[in-house]
Amino acid sequence: MRFRRFGAWVLCAVLVAAAAHAQEQDFSKITLKTTELAPGLAMLEGVGGFAGGNIAVSYGADGTAIVDDQFVPMVPKIDAAVRALSDGPVRFVINTHWHPDHVGGNEPLRDGGAVIVAHENVRKRMSVDAFSKLMNRKVPAAPAAALPVVTFGDGLVLHWNGETIRVVHVAPAHTDGDSHIWFENANAVHMGDTFVNGIFPFIDVESGGSIKGFIDSANRVLTKANARTRIIPGHGPLATHGDLAKFRDMLVDVKGRVEKGIASGKTLEQFNATKPLADLDNEWGDGFMKSDRLVALVWMSLTGK
Ligand SMILES: [Zn+2]
Repeated sequence: MRFRRFGAWVLCAVLVAAAAHAQEQDFSKITLKTTELAPGLAMLEGVGGFAGGNIAVSYGADGTAIVDDQFVPMVPKIDAAVRALSDGPVRFVINTHWHPDHVGGNEPLRDGGAVIVAHENVRKRMSVDAFSKLMNRKVPAAPAAALPVVTFGDGLVLHWNGETIRVVHVAPAHTDGDSHIWFENANAVHMGDTFVNGIFPFIDVESGGSIKGFIDSANRVLTKANARTRIIPGHGPLATHGDLAKFRDMLVDVKGRVEKGIASGKTLEQFNATKPLADLDNEWGDGFMKSDRLVALVWMSLTGK
């Protein structure tokens, strides 16, 4: 998978170092691939480098609304891709969560007239300096001009281009501010980083993330979706119900193994020394998360330490 080539790099980018790397990285060779999912709905994904998270675009007579916006240097490319679908500027941006590779373009898009919409915890976490012990890095507060303008608790609905865009906050999963964005008529959903297709996920326990919430979030989509639902993951290629079910099954398996490790009385280090996910590594471990890191995050999520 093309995405996997950026392995170690992406680890930094997806986490808190993303903003810093955005300034260092050369985005000039990255392009955006557009996949039309239904009339008035498309997915944009980076090709040729790490562009940030996948984007959904709703376009039509009312104008354009997008889900997530990668990094500042990607905004001119996002704008061009969006205008190739439909004339006119981006009117709404919905952020799936607060990580810099999903909200990085907020400020220039807001300057261009877009209204930024996100769960209230996205605005809260973007508003303050944060320090990640896991990454030993500071994430500076975002400028006021990058913050969501409309925030919500449980969710909201955008009635836009004849589509019902249902934004649903889910219990803490990847972070404590995740939302799923459903395009109900098109039978599609953007899951943010509560789903990364084909690789181990990052559970940002420092931002309130939880392995149980990750599994619940996947189950919630699997229950509402069907075999024809187009599922946009935070990273990785467009997915099906089957892909998400496989991801959920892997998470349930990993959680069970870590629970056994905790019950055995071993320390995390002793448990990781047994390489408890060795048989899963080949299939899931060549993305931005290595299995020992995932084990540590699941362990932290289950024990609180
Ligand atoms: Zn994320």
